[in-house]
Amino acid sequence: MTDEELLHAETFRDRISNVTEKGNRNWIYALKPKGKWTNYRKYLAFFYLITFFTLPFIKMNDLPFMMINIIEGKFILFSKIFWPQDFFIFAIAMITFIVFIVLFTVVFGRLFCGWVCPQTIFMEFIFRPIEWMIEGTPNQQRKLNDGAWTGEKIFKKTFKHFLFLVFSFAIAHTFLAYILGIDEVIAIIREPVDDHIGLLTGLIIFTLLFYGVYAFVRDIVCTTICPYGRLQSVMFDKDTMQIAYDYKRGEPRGKFKKGVERTEGDCIGCNKCVQVCPTGIDIRDGIQMECVGCTACIDACNEVMESVHLEKGLIRYASENEISTGKKFHFNTRMKAYTILLSVLLVVMVIMIASRKTVDAHITRVKGQTYQEMPNHQISNLYDAKIINKTREKIPITLRLEGLEGVVKLIGSKDIILKEESIGEFTFFLEIPESLIQHHSTKIKIGVYRGGEKLQTIQSKFLGPYQ
Ligand code: SF4
Ligand code: SF4
Repeated sequence: MTDEELLHAETFRDRISNVTEKGNRNWIYALKPKGKWTNYRKYLAFFYLITFFTLPFIKMNDLPFMMINIIEGKFILFSKIFWPQDFFIFAIAMITFIVFIVLFTVVFGRLFCGWVCPQTIFMEFIFRPIEWMIEGTPNQQRKLNDGAWTGEKIFKKTFKHFLFLVFSFAIAHTFLAYILGIDEVIAIIREPVDDHIGLLTGLIIFTLLFYGVYAFVRDIVCTTICPYGRLQSVMFDKDTMQIAYDYKRGEPRGKFKKGVERTEGDCIGCNKCVQVCPTGIDIRDGIQMECVGCTACIDACNEVMESVHLEKGLIRYASENEISTGKKFHFNTRMKAYTILLSVLLVVMVIMIASRKTVDAHITRVKGQTYQEMPNHQISNLYDAKIINKTREKIPITLRLEGLEGVVKLIGSKDIILKEESIGEFTFFLEIPESLIQHHSTKIKIGVYRGGEKLQTIQSKFLGPYQ
C-alpha cells in the first residue's frame, strides 16, 4: 500500500461522502448506470410507480382498496374497513413488518433501500432521470452549475425545477389520496379553495417538502436522516449479504495495459464504480453506512470487466465471510430465530384478519346497579350494549338470552338498527323468572343475531337474590 492509500484507508470514514473536509455540501453528480441489475431495478420501479399512482383509484364494493386515514382513525385494507377497535391487528402487522425488515437486513443487508424504498425509487427513477434528460451527464451538470446564468442555464434550471414541482405535486396528492381517499382529493381540487383551506395548505406544504427533498436534500436523506440507515450497523454481521468489492481478487490495483499480462489484481482503478454511485462512496473501501445497495457499481464494474476480458463479479452481492474465506452463504442461528418469529407472526396475523368480525358487540352489566324483583316473579338486571357495525349497510340486530328463559327489554327504542359504519349504544333490561335463578351471580350468554343468523355470543353475569 502506498502512503497515499494508507492515509485514505484511515481517513475515509472520518466524514460522510456528501460533506467536504471543510464541512460544506459535496454535491454528488452520479453517472447514469446501465446493465443487468439496473434493468431489473427499472422493471421493478416501473411496476412500483404504476401501483403507487393507481392504487388510490381502485375500489371494490364501493370502498377504496387501500386507505390509511390516520386523521379519523379509519383504515381500509383489501376494501375491508378496519376500526380503531381492530388496532391490535395493526399492532401485529407493524411488529411483523419490523421483524421482516430486521430479518431482511440481517440476511440481505440494504436490499430494501436499493430496491423498494420510496426515497430511492422516486429519486433514481423519476427525479434523477429528469435531471439527466435536461442537464446531461455529470460533467455537463457540473459545468452548468459552475457557469454564468446564461439563457440556456435559466431555461434548463427553470424547466427542471418545474418538472420537479409537478412530480412532487403528484406524489403529495397521491399520498393524500391514501389518507383521505381519492374522492376527497378530487373534491379538494374541484371545489372552491375556501372550502378546503386547511387541506390545501397541507398539500402545498407536502408538495414543497417533496420538492425540497428531491431537488436539494437528496442523498442526505439516506446518509444522515433515515433512521433505518443508521440502524444498519447493529443488524449486519459477517454473513450479511451486501454489495461488496472482492478485494481478494481486485487488489493490488493496477492500470490495464492492452496485450500485457496482468501481475496485479483485477481492479484496473478506472473509478467507474465511484462515478455511478448516487451517494458518492468508493465501495472498494469496504462496507459503508452510505451505501444504499443500488447495484449501480456492480453494473459499472461488470461493464469494465467485460471490456478488459476479465471475469465479471469483482463487485457483487456477497457476504464479508464469502469474500474473505471463500465460504458460501449459510443460514445462521440468528436468521433461523427471526424466520421462526416472522412465520409465527404471519400466521397470527392471517388468523386475526380471517376471524375479524364485521359486527362487534360488547355487553356489560351496568356498574353500581343491583337486581330488581318484579311483581310478576321476574328478576331484572340492567345492561349496556355497544355494537359496532363495520360494514357499509344498515343491520337490524336482535339480542336473545341463550340456554335460559328470559326476555330482553330495550329502553328507549323498540328495535336495534345499526347504521352503516357506526357504533350503536343501547341499554336494556334482561328479565329472567325468579325460579330459574339459583345463585346470587349466574353466568349467562346473550346471543347477538341478524335475522336468524347468530353473529356473536357474549358472556355476562346476572345477579339475583341470595339463596
Ligand atoms: S469499476 Fe471495477 S475495475 Fe473500475 S475501479 Fe471500480 S472495482 Fe476497479
Ligand atoms: S456503493 Fe454501489 S451499491 Fe452502494 S450506493 Fe454506491 S453505487 Fe450503489
